[in-house]
Formats: sequence, structure tokens, C-alpha cells
Amino acid sequence: MNPMRSLSDISIQFVKGVGPARKKIFQRLGIESVEDLLYFFPRRYEDRRDLVPISRLKVGEFQTVTGKILGSASRRSWYTKKHVLEVVLEDDGGHLVCTWFNQPYLMNYFKEGRHAVCYGKVDMYKDRLQMISPEWEIIEEKEDAQLNLGRIVPVYPLTRGVTQRFLRKTIHACLERYQNQLIDELPVPLRNKYKLYNIKRGIRQAHFPDSFPDQENAMKRISFEEFYFFQIAVLARRLSITRKPGFAHTMADAEVLKFIDGFPFALTRAQTRVIGEIRQDMAKDTPMLRLLQGDVGSGKTLVAIFGCVTAARNGFQSCVMAPTEILARQHYENISRMIEQGHLADLRAALLTGAVTGKEKEKLCARIRSGEVDLVIGTHALMGGEAAFRNLSFIVVDEQHKFGVRQRALLAEKGHNPDILIMTATPIPRTLCITLYGDMDLSVLDELPPGRGEVKTRLYPEDRAEEVYALAREQLKKGRQVYVVYPIIEESEKLDLKAARTMFNHFKKETFKDFRVGLVHGQLKAKEGQEIMDQFKNGKIDLLVATTVLEVGIDVPAAGVMVIEHAERFGLAQLHQLRGRIGRGKEDGLCLLIGEAETDDSQQRLKAFVSTTDGFKIAQRDLEIRGPGRYFGRHQHGLNELKVANPFTQLDILELARQEATALTGADSKLEKEQNRRVGEIIRRRYPSYLTDVAAG
Ligand code: ADP
Ligand code: MG
Repeated sequence: MNPMRSLSDISIQFVKGVGPARKKIFQRLGIESVEDLLYFFPRRYEDRRDLVPISRLKVGEFQTVTGKILGSASRRSWYTKKHVLEVVLEDDGGHLVCTWFNQPYLMNYFKEGRHAVCYGKVDMYKDRLQMISPEWEIIEEKEDAQLNLGRIVPVYPLTRGVTQRFLRKTIHACLERYQNQLIDELPVPLRNKYKLYNIKRGIRQAHFPDSFPDQENAMKRISFEEFYFFQIAVLARRLSITRKPGFAHTMADAEVLKFIDGFPFALTRAQTRVIGEIRQDMAKDTPMLRLLQGDVGSGKTLVAIFGCVTAARNGFQSCVMAPTEILARQHYENISRMIEQGHLADLRAALLTGAVTGKEKEKLCARIRSGEVDLVIGTHALMGGEAAFRNLSFIVVDEQHKFGVRQRALLAEKGHNPDILIMTATPIPRTLCITLYGDMDLSVLDELPPGRGEVKTRLYPEDRAEEVYALAREQLKKGRQVYVVYPIIEESEKLDLKAARTMFNHFKKETFKDFRVGLVHGQLKAKEGQEIMDQFKNGKIDLLVATTVLEVGIDVPAAGVMVIEHAERFGLAQLHQLRGRIGRGKEDGLCLLIGEAETDDSQQRLKAFVSTTDGFKIAQRDLEIRGPGRYFGRHQHGLNELKVANPFTQLDILELARQEATALTGADSKLEKEQNRRVGEIIRRRYPSYLTDVAAG
């Protein structure tokens, strides 16, 4: 084998103990190569250097114990009908009862005489020490004991078909075999300056640390590297855009005032401020690249229109790109209404989506080419070859996270270095924003227009679903419209979940038979989905059953109630987007969650969600809960995402890395200098879409 072959090219199946059969299991964890496996880090560690004897366990604390299995017994609980397994562990000084519910197969593992390790919260019940549903491992062989006892032990994220023991053994074997082939990409002067471990020591200590400080240093080293290269990519990108010649748009004070005064309502202070920021940017003769963050309903559209008007007053065209057909149309309707409201009749807007075809499309494209249209609103169709502009100078991209850097660049090519405004309703805390989108300037709409209703949120357990339906019925009788959201569309054998289609049928025939019930989901054709949304909007449907297609930007002000079933299955950001669909009118909204937290994480998520409607607080909490080490694999999902490093918990490391990256790109933005060539190669490999402009190596 070629010793220089990169570890990312060696398939996981060549690692001892894996083989073709188990390869699939690793793929489920996002692990394809030896490199992926070495970068698959523990989600936490357990200190098993000195295990606590059972007699010294502290009630109320999370602790790890080991002991011999004295016996086990299973029964059915007489009132919940659940299967209960009780296992008694014994060590020299005491007994501990471990209890699991509804996992009868566990009986096969807890055989008398074996040794087990359990980790969980210690309880006292009727004078007995116990743990409910602890994490567990059976220790069998001597070799097992070396990796699983008497040391700080890594605990990995798991998937079906693998155990902690197996992962530890496999990763250990992988380290033994391949660690000498790890290539240290971080420049030596930086490593020396910050006293960072070399990569081999870093990776090793991240998996099997000798001490907790060693583990911390290891993660610091690995995160520093990730931050450093990613920041170089981001900064180089920023420089490559902002150093080009662009359009200088001017707008006299009087014209800005006229724009602001044209609307029948007062702009929020935030809107006025952001308009000022955009005006300044657009006046410069270099391209603008600005991220506009604003919670749902904060009035981003108006701000975007200001940019379009500015372009038009200077004789240029603009466009707004939305991620879906429905959203593009909605934007078009909103913008058309605002054009009317703001007395901007001379701004000629058109809609171009995949639904516009044939003659109609030809005609529209001809008008765009000749400059008879000032503002084109559309979907991906805007990026197509036929959509050529006469002089495009301002671009709005809605919902940043739905588009990649690549697509953004493609659209930008339709003009000569146009100004770009990217809008997102997903609030991103500032530190993360600088890390992920440091190539853009940031504007924030942190204020909602006055006079909006409040949204109340309540959580109900599964067995009170009927109560929730009754509440929904009450609201329907008052003439309010209701959404009911499900995580899945069809029922499946694997997941024991209520599905949108089943419940739609059930509601139609039973629960809500005296109301008009509709169903919308992502598998519908754009046109069908649009029809149903229109019917709901026009009040022809009272209750709309939906999947998460609702998540982005659907706007029906009269819908005041939302029921979300299996709420624990949704991410916090997703829940927030969903809830943003209600309380858009003057009346208060009601958000009823049905669900039961299955894990600590989901419990914290639901708690956070019920306690606040502030999008920024929710985003912050979301990131705290998810934390580091949850990122599977490396360099493979979204490229603009960090896999290991966490900008919240490692802010100090981020700042150092960013400082170094700024120094390097400031002196050599295209990474052309001899001493930066290697860095350039690394960036091109890791973050290819960021470096459209950097000289090829
Ligand atoms: P976003 O896109 O940020 O979710 P929109 O731009 O769609 O929000 O605005 C939501 C609604 O608020 C629209 O109906 C818009 O006309 C209205 N609106 C925008 N700015 C104001 C304001 N300053 N005062 C009152 N209503 C506003
Ligand atoms: Mg919007």
C-alpha cells in the first residue's frame, strides 16, 4: 500500500474488526474512511480510574459503578403494563438495583456472574439504592477491561448495531494501525506559538486521554485547526468579493425620506437603522455582501424593497430569490402589496418560477432582458440560462440556509459584481454568525412592528391529546383557523409515530368532521400545494394538517392556533419557525404541543421552547443544548458547518484562530505567496466552494 495514501481515501472496512458487513453501520454514523473514524469523537468521557464502591454512592448524583451481576428478574408493572427488568449488581460492599422499562431483550445480556458497568443517577427507593435506565455495558474479556476500566473512558454517540465496547476497540485498533499516517497540516510556527499538540497526540488523547487536561488540550488543538482553516476560507472569500469593482448606487436624503413616509405605518427603529446600513453599503463602488437577520414578522421584506428601489432609481434591475415556489409567490404578493402601500407604482415587478413556461416565459424573459422589468422575484429558475438581465445590480436571497455558497455565486454571475443581501429568519447568535458567515456584514432587525398578538405555548403529554383537540375545536367554533403539524407524512413500521396522512383521514371522518380539513405536505406538486395553501388562506379550509413544509415563511394571518404533535421530534429552531406561522395578526396565538421528552436533550428543548418566544434566546439555547461532539463525520455534510469546534464553548480558541487567519489573509488574500501555498491547497480541498477566486495551486 502506498504509505502516502491519505487516510480519507482508506475505506473504514479495512480497519480491524469492521469488514464489509459492518461498514454499513459506520456509514449510518457518517463514517466512510479511516480519517472519519479518527475524527469521530466521544460525546463525553467517564472517569473509571477509581470507580466508586456501591457503598459510597451518593444519592442524587450521576455516577459510574461496576459490579458482578447477582441476578435479574423481569415482570410486568400492574398499572402501566410496562415490561420491567431489574438487575442486581454487587461489589464487595453493597448492592445496587438497576431498572429498565420495555426493553425485554436486555435480559439476554445481564447473565448472572458477568461484570457490568452502569452509569446513571443514583436513587434511593424503599431503602434500596437504585438506578433507573442507566447506560450500561457488559465487560467480558480481559482485553475489554483494558479499554473499558481503570482509565478515562470515551463514550461515543451510538447507532443501532454498535456498542460502546465495540467502538472503543475499533477506534483503538484504528489508532494503533494508522496514527503514524496522520499528516499534521497546522503550520509548525503556529503549533509552537500556541503550544498545541501535534496531530497524532491530539487525536489519541481525544479518544483515550491520560488525564482530563490532556483531553482538553487535544480538543483545543483539533478545534484550533478547524477554526483556523475555515476562517481563512471565509476571510479570503470576503476579500475576493469586496475588492472587486461594483455598482455605486446613490439615493438622496429626500428620496429615502419619501420612501419611508410612503408607507401607511411607521417603520420600526430597527428597519430605519438597517435601511441606513444598506444605503451606505450600496453607495460604495465595491460589492455589498450583507446578511439580514430578523425574526419572522420583523419586516424584512420592506428593507429588501428599499434595496430594490435604490437599484431602480439608479437605472438598474434587482431580483429576489426564494427557496420554494410557494414562498416565491408569497413574496411576489407581499411585495406587490407593499409597492402599492408605499406608492412605488413605478417599480415594475414580475414573478419567474418553474411554473412559468412556454410562450409566457419567453415573453417574460424578453422583458427582463430589455429592462422593462425592474424587479424579478423567483425561485431557482432565476439561475437558469434563459433568465438574463439587462443590468442586474442588486440581489436578495431569502432563507440563506436553503442555498449554498455555490448557488449564491451562480446568481451573482447574472450581474457584474452586484450587491447582495441575504435574508434569514433563523436568528444566529453573533459569535456563531461571525464564525460561519464572517464573509458578510451583519444587519439585525431586533424589533417587531407594534400591535401584534402574543403567542401562548403549552405542552401536553400524549395521553391528553383529546383535550388538545377539544381546545382546537373551541377555537374553530370561534372562527379561527388551525394548523396541526406532524413530523412524518406516512406511518412507518420503524417509527411508532402518528403521521400526517393518517391523522388527516381520522380528523376528516371523526374528530373534526364538522369542519373543513385539508392536508399539505412536501410530496405534493408545487401547484397542488399552492392550491391548498390558497384555500386555507381564503378561509375555505378550517384546519390544515401539515408536515414541516410549513416551516419556512408561510403567511396566513388569520391562522391563530397551531398544534404540534410529537413535538419532541423537532429541533428547537424548527419549532420556532413553525410557531412563527401563528400570531401574525392582531389576535393572540395559541401553540399547543403534544409530546413527551425521551431524552434530557429533548426535555431541555421543550422547556426552552415553552418559556420564550424570543428567537435569539431560542437559538442560543439550542446551541448550548446540542453542544460539541455531536457532529458526525468531517468535511462531508454542509461545507459551511463546523464539525468539531464549537464557537460557544471555545470562543477563546476561535478568537486566536481568527486573529491568525486575519493576519495571513490580510497579507496575502489570494494565498499566492510561496509560504502560503500549502495552506491554499488545504483550503481548496476542505472548502472548495469558498475559493472560487483563489489562484489554483
Ligand atoms: P418577515 O419577512 O420579516 O417575516 P414581513 O416583511 O413579511 O416579515 O412583514 C410582515 C408583515 O408586517 C407584513 O404584512 C408587512 O406589511 C408588515 N410590516 C412590515 N413593517 C411594518 C411596520 N414597521 N409596521 C407595521 N407593519 C409592518
Ligand atoms: Mg419573510
